[in-house]
Parts: sequence; structure tokens; C-alpha cells
Amino acid sequence: MAEPNTLLLALLFLAVAAGWVLGRGASGRDEEKDQTPPSQYYLGLNFLLDGEQESALKAFSEALAVNAETFETHITFGSLLRKRGEVDNAIKIHQSLLSRTKLPDAQKNQAHLELAKDFIAAGLLDRAEQLLKDLIELSTEHEADANILLLEVFEASRDWEQARVLAESQLKQVLAATVTPASKAKADKMKARLCNYCCEAAEDQEVNKAWTAARNEAAEGLRWDDSSIWPHLIMARIDVEEGATQQAFDRLMSAAKVAPNRLPEFIDPLREACDALGCRGRLVSLISGLLETRDDPQLRSLLADEYLSNGNEAAALEIIVQGLEKKPTSALLQKALELMSEQVSCPAVVEAAQKLSIKQSTYLCGVCGFHGPSFYWQCPGCKNWDTLYRPAR
Ligand SMILES: [Zn+2]
Repeated sequence: MAEPNTLLLALLFLAVAAGWVLGRGASGRDEEKDQTPPSQYYLGLNFLLDGEQESALKAFSEALAVNAETFETHITFGSLLRKRGEVDNAIKIHQSLLSRTKLPDAQKNQAHLELAKDFIAAGLLDRAEQLLKDLIELSTEHEADANILLLEVFEASRDWEQARVLAESQLKQVLAATVTPASKAKADKMKARLCNYCCEAAEDQEVNKAWTAARNEAAEGLRWDDSSIWPHLIMARIDVEEGATQQAFDRLMSAAKVAPNRLPEFIDPLREACDALGCRGRLVSLISGLLETRDDPQLRSLLADEYLSNGNEAAALEIIVQGLEKKPTSALLQKALELMSEQVSCPAVVEAAQKLSIKQSTYLCGVCGFHGPSFYWQCPGCKNWDTLYRPAR
């Protein structure tokens, strides 16, 4: 674990000291403050002088009395602990806040919300769900924040049915309000989310080989957002299962034109459909056409693979070399060196290019920077949808 932030420690040290000074004038407002053991303050100081920053942080937080003035400090401290991965300590702080009977309801509800965030971070989804449902009953002020967190809980527990019901009710609220560019964008985002939930539910049905149910889910996804290619990819897989290869091919070809940046994610089923129909040559014309409007190193690499599968190494090398001139990436360099391996007398150069290319993460999230070798429709880092892309590098 990382060392505690020195600034945080200093702020907490000052907050405890300031809390005492302020507390003298407010001693009648919270009787429990008097029960705070002052020894914790000196204990914290000792830990600080001994260089034990973690222990010092805990001692100072315990020494800081809970009252209306210091409430925000506790909330900030708890939230920082959660972000640092110390969820157990964050839970203790927020539970201790909730046990104070003297706090105003608004502050209790805020602590309630923070505790729900702790439970989500700790993976205690059932407890978070109950807490948030209670909070929605108790506080209209925190209802919107609680609903957002509740959606997070349903997503994390893969409860697509409850997620859909909640998202639909939120969408209705947005649509009922006066139409503004912001409300329209919010509604579109919610519709895209509903589409994603349907697709997740469809993929769960696919695992059970319940093809009709899976197709119905995907079709509903499309009704929410007809610009998404995810439902088409699911339906194409079901088409193949049901022997409708031509239909699968048509769907995937349309998806490639709608979202050429996603073609690497479904090139394999598209190749299989082409092979089954005996029209593999269509892929060369498809990708060449896409490349004319979009100079994408990934598409260039796929086109080179198609030339190679036809035994046309010269065309493959030409398309890669063009890419190196226009938009060089380590993957293109590796491919070029592989194709030229007979002319490259030093195998170490080919190996170095391979290592360089492998070192680059295939996928990167445009929102949080999460990176990894696999594609996810929902980013595992920030939980945003459809934010992973293949960086050209
Ligand atoms: Zn992310």
C-alpha cells in the first residue's frame, strides 16, 4: 500500500487541533464530543514522530470529534480512505457517523450515501442495495445520487432486469421534463444504456443456448438504440447457430460499415461466414473501401491478413509499407519486418519489433485510461460503456 499523503496527514492534524478550539465554543451542541479520548491526539502525534503515518492517520481521525462543524472532514477522510483501497476503515468512519444521534438528518443521509459507496467498493452489493433503497425512501435530496449508485449495484450484480426497470423510470423522468440539448443528451445516454443492458441479458441467454430469448433481448436492445452494433453482433451469432449464415453475413457487413473501428472485434465470425458462403474475396473490397475513408492501422493490418490468406505477400507488404509512411505503429512495423524476414538478416531486429508490439496494450479506455489485452463493452475500470478502443501505436 502507498504511504499516506503527507498533505492529508497535515490537514487532519490541523483539523483535530482546530476542532478542539472550535469545539470549546460549541461544547453544548454535541455531548458525545466530550467522550472523545484526548489521548488519541497525543498517540497520533507519537505515531507521526515515529514515522508511522498510517497509524497516525487512524489516531487523528478517532481524535477528531464528530459534530456539524467537523462532519465534512470525516466524510472527506472516509472517501479518501475508500479511494486508497482502505474500505474497511472507510466503513468504520461512516458507520460511526451514522451512530451519532445528534447529527441533522441531511448529514446522516450523506453518511448513508457514503457508506453505500463503501459497500459497493467492498463488493457487499446486497447491503449497498438495501441501504440505497432505504435512502431513496428517506431523502428526496439524495434520490438522484442514490439511483445512480443503485444502477451501479445492479450492473455489478448483473441484475439486468432490475437495472432496466430503474433506467426506464429514470428515462421517463428525463423525457417528462422540458426538452433542452442537455436533457436530450441525457435521454440518449440512458437509451444507449438500456440497449447495453438488453445485450448483456441476451448474452446471458446465449450462454444457456436459449436462442429465441437471446434474439428477443437483442431486438429490444436495438429498439432502444438502433445505432449500436452490439445487438447485430449477437443476432449474427444466433443466425449462425440457426443455420442462417447469409443473414449473419449481411448483418456483419452492415455492422462493419456502421462501426469500422469495431471491425477487429468481429472479423473472425465475418471471416467464417465468408468462408462458409464461399465469398472471402468480399472482405478485401470491404476493408479497402473502409480504408479509403478512414486511415486506420488496424484495418490496414486486417487487409494485409486478407492478402496473405490469398497468398499475395507483395500486396500485403505494400499495404503495410503505405501505412508506415502515413501512420506508423509498432504493430505495422512488426508486420512489415515479419513479411520481410528473408531480407532482414538480423533476427534480433524482428524479435525486438515483436516485443515492442506485444508490450503495447491492445485496448485503452478513453475515459479512465484502463488498458489491457481484452475487449469489454463496459470498461472494468470506470464502468462506462463502449469506451474501450484500440490505440494506434
Ligand atoms: Zn474506463
